[in-house]
Amino acid sequence: MEDSNVFIDALDRLRRIGEQTGIPTEVIDALARPKATLSASLPVRMDDGSRGYFEAYRCRYNDALGPTKGGIRFHPEVTIDEVRALALWMTLKCGVVGLPYGGGKGGVIVDAKDLSRLEIERLSRAYVRAMADFIGPDVDIPAPDMYTNERIMGWMADEYQTIKRVHAPDVITGKPIVLGGSLGRSEATGRGAFIVIQELAARKGLTPRETTVAVQGFGNAGYHVARLLHQEGYHIVAISDSKGGIYSDAGFDVESVYQRKQESSELHGVYCEGSVCNMVEHDRITNEELLELDVDILIPAALESVITSENVDRVKAPYIAEVANGPISGDVDTKLFDRGTVVLPDVLTNAGGVTVSYFEWVQNRQGFAWDLEEVRNRLASALIDAFDAVWQIATDEGLSLRSAAYARALRRIGEQVEAQGTRAYFGNAAEE
Ligand code: GLU
Repeated sequence: MEDSNVFIDALDRLRRIGEQTGIPTEVIDALARPKATLSASLPVRMDDGSRGYFEAYRCRYNDALGPTKGGIRFHPEVTIDEVRALALWMTLKCGVVGLPYGGGKGGVIVDAKDLSRLEIERLSRAYVRAMADFIGPDVDIPAPDMYTNERIMGWMADEYQTIKRVHAPDVITGKPIVLGGSLGRSEATGRGAFIVIQELAARKGLTPRETTVAVQGFGNAGYHVARLLHQEGYHIVAISDSKGGIYSDAGFDVESVYQRKQESSELHGVYCEGSVCNMVEHDRITNEELLELDVDILIPAALESVITSENVDRVKAPYIAEVANGPISGDVDTKLFDRGTVVLPDVLTNAGGVTVSYFEWVQNRQGFAWDLEEVRNRLASALIDAFDAVWQIATDEGLSLRSAAYARALRRIGEQVEAQGTRAYFGNAAEE
């Protein structure tokens, strides 16, 4: 799917599920367009002395339920429409978990791998200089996303505080611990996905030792979910990164693969040299092949729109856990549901990241840091509650888990729209 269609696809899905679940059109209309999107061209001094320019966006999609919240991604394929789609999904994600936030998202068109560390720092600070009046602890709170990390969040928070001459660590989440970050934030997206998968497994009677898993994408979220599933006894038989994947019937020791990737910065071929290589027989596979493997659980944890009408018929896994945002295009939702494929939707499955971001924001505002156990317990109870509620809606109303998750979020947002008065209210008043 072309990038420019991602937002249209997201809106089509929103309208379709809205109709299916009886959401008033006034609620869907309120979500059919972002509140505001700022574009900027970021001037950055490059190491060779020249000045580079990078296109950047920040979208505050909807703030009905609180300040907007969402990550910033650095990626060469970022588009304004992709940022809008991601910001809409953040709105729904916060609604599913019941966080007091709306949704936002940011992005910069850049291949971060081409930049030096100094250039990345200058780019990160330039982003905040451009967006400083658009973001803020009570307005819009960024966080990490693809190819941004703790260190970058630390630079961004520092730049904001320098510009505003205040101490405001709550302007950004996902910071290094020493700069006000929360324990447990870096693993939170993967741990949240693990919790949700475990809930599904309990309901479907899946036994970890008899369950095979393929993970597409070995970034922060993909690594942590694979690590936790492996620890629990699941067989992680395939893993890939942007360069390609590896497959082994025997299953991988996730931690060793991760260590090797850190050393060589490549996954493709992780197993062809050194001690780990000798331990496990493996094949190299492509990212496309990984999606079509005959495994029990498929975890797309990389980019959006990787499962589309083009390949859906070849996707065999009966369970798909969307750890990436938007990995399945909207036009195949019905087909997957009709054939019995259970999809754990992104707005629930990867909501652990923003949930612990919320905890980080709360800790910053309280000036009191929680211990790791408290963070993990609160994360587990937030996601188990959300899962239970979504499962209940799906069962009662005969819906897919995605439709049920959307219904939960949209009904919550709908209450806010109704509290402000709808046509039904004002129409009646005129007649009285
Ligand atoms: N970028 C993450 C997401 O897509 C985290 C957002 C946040 O923590 O605000 O959910």
